Amino acid sequence: MNLPIDAHSQVARAIRRGELVRQPCDICGKQPAHAHHDTYEEPLVVRWLCASHHRGLHVILDRLNARSIRQRKSPLRTFRRVRVMTQAQLAKLAGVSQTVICHAEQGRVQLPPHVQARVAAILGSTPEQLFPEPEVTR
Ligand SMILES: [Zn+2]
Ligand SMILES: [Zn+2]
Repeated sequence: MNLPIDAHSQVARAIRRGELVRQPCDICGKQPAHAHHDTYEEPLVVRWLCASHHRGLHVILDRLNARSIRQRKSPLRTFRRVRVMTQAQLAKLAGVSQTVICHAEQGRVQLPPHVQARVAAILGSTPEQLFPEPEVTR
């Protein structure tokens, strides 16, 4: 039950059978509201949201998603952890502030090439490996 389409047809069927009743928007009370799924694992557990609040929620979810993907993929963080080094230790060795390392791991800043080279040397890696081209943010 991972396909959104399954969940949506189950909701439609449950509404026809009267097992699920359409509700106004949870946030503003407007009707009609869409059935939003926090998880498709439970197809009949929905949140009712009008078109604009539904869109707004998805914008937030997309952003959270993009952020967690960026963090998960951060090779810098992975390498630092493998070397059992804290952000503070790495920052000190690289001669930058801890915030800079933190933001670099989140993909929020691009380190200047000489800092990338220094960090790579400290971690026994290469700048290409640690700092791949950032993905285009939407
Ligand atoms: Zn939704
Ligand atoms: Zn609403």
